[in-house]
Amino acid sequence: MMITKPRGTEDVLPGEVKLWQKIEQTARECCDVFGYKEIRTPVFESTELFNRGVGETTDVVQKEMYTFNDKGGRSITLKPEGTATLVRSYIENSLYANPQPTKLSYIIPCFRYEKPQSGRLREFHQFGVECFGAESPETDAEIISLANTFLNRVGIKGVSLYINSIGCPVCRKEYNEKLKAYFRSHEDKLCETCKARLEKNPMRIIDCKSPICSEIAKSAPKIIDYLCEDCKNHFDKTRSSLDNLGIGYKINPDIVRGLDYYTKTVFEFVSDSLGAQSTVCGGGRYSGLVEELGGKPTEGIGFAAGIERLVLIIKNQGLESENEVTPEVFLAAIGDSAVRAAQKTVYELRLLGMAAEQDLCGRSVKAQMKFANKLGAKYSAVIGDDEIANGKINLKNMKNGETAEVALSADAIYEFIKKAERELE
Ligand code: ATP
Ligand code: MG
Repeated sequence: MMITKPRGTEDVLPGEVKLWQKIEQTARECCDVFGYKEIRTPVFESTELFNRGVGETTDVVQKEMYTFNDKGGRSITLKPEGTATLVRSYIENSLYANPQPTKLSYIIPCFRYEKPQSGRLREFHQFGVECFGAESPETDAEIISLANTFLNRVGIKGVSLYINSIGCPVCRKEYNEKLKAYFRSHEDKLCETCKARLEKNPMRIIDCKSPICSEIAKSAPKIIDYLCEDCKNHFDKTRSSLDNLGIGYKINPDIVRGLDYYTKTVFEFVSDSLGAQSTVCGGGRYSGLVEELGGKPTEGIGFAAGIERLVLIIKNQGLESENEVTPEVFLAAIGDSAVRAAQKTVYELRLLGMAAEQDLCGRSVKAQMKFANKLGAKYSAVIGDDEIANGKINLKNMKNGETAEVALSADAIYEFIKKAERELE
């Protein structure tokens, strides 16, 4: 019986990988310009990290984690997101000892046990950044402007930025009471998870995906009306900072984000060409997380963008470009000694850095030339006994059919093709 991939996972096939590489390349270029250094961390972590870091009452921790005991009896979880891991690494490797802020970036696979649908997978990938040790509203604007630059350079259209402030523990004291009172009056209609969250963490109900809970949440009190002086100031300055950079946004008081660690600024970039799973990038500030995970009180802010959702948008908007690398030259061969000559020359061309191909499937000469065409080779030649005896081949330009006599050596072929390319420029 054929074995198929696990539900909610995807194979990215060779034709599509170029698109991924382009997105990753764009992410790295943006991080270089904004000064965010890449960090690589384990695919799995202690379960405890996410219980404490993401929050016990979140959907991610309550329903979505890939958690198992390893053979040593430790509870292990496949990373559902990147921030908690980066905080752990920041503390564990004493990155706070460097001049602050510490600006980090990552591209990682994430694992969440969700109901698979378009744009929602069980294994997906995130490009994200975090900035530690900076409290200024200019930092919020820098992070948002980095996300904005990245999405623009990827080339997608129809993305809108929504921002909100969800305050700090001070603002939430009064707000949580108001919110509890509101949800208590609808308690009988809430889903079971939300009923249990009501007393512990009522803000989580606002983020619940169940249609009934989200309908009730629509009329709930909004945190933005309860901000303390400090949070209000910070939000106003973040907004004027974005205005200063010419980055357009709308305030959306309903954004609370799905992870417990956020404080003050939160934001989402939403696409108009994704359907239900429309958020491509989400992030925000977190003031208590580093301390929660055993570090000194340290401000943090970051975002994560879902790469699969970006790929979907690019495809929906017809923005894929044909940029598969094709061979510069294909060497066909007739007979054993020709096969050996072709093999050696192709290898030497590759050592020189030129994409070169030969037949590996025992095709006839005619079939070899057909194959060269299929591969999109720019030049080709047939090697037979005569070519070996004379040390010369007829190199054919596959586009215009012109041929030229060239010595049967990697250097000569390389020089000829490079020269022809230079003349074309
Ligand atoms: P959603 O509300 O769509 O469930 P989220 O709030 O859980 O998203 P985050 O934890 O903020 O998402 O993750 C950041 C980004 O990662 C999302 O904006 C999205 O682009 C992507 N993402 C999250 N979960 C998935 C998933 N299961 N499959 C594919 N991409 C995802
Ligand atoms: Mg989610």
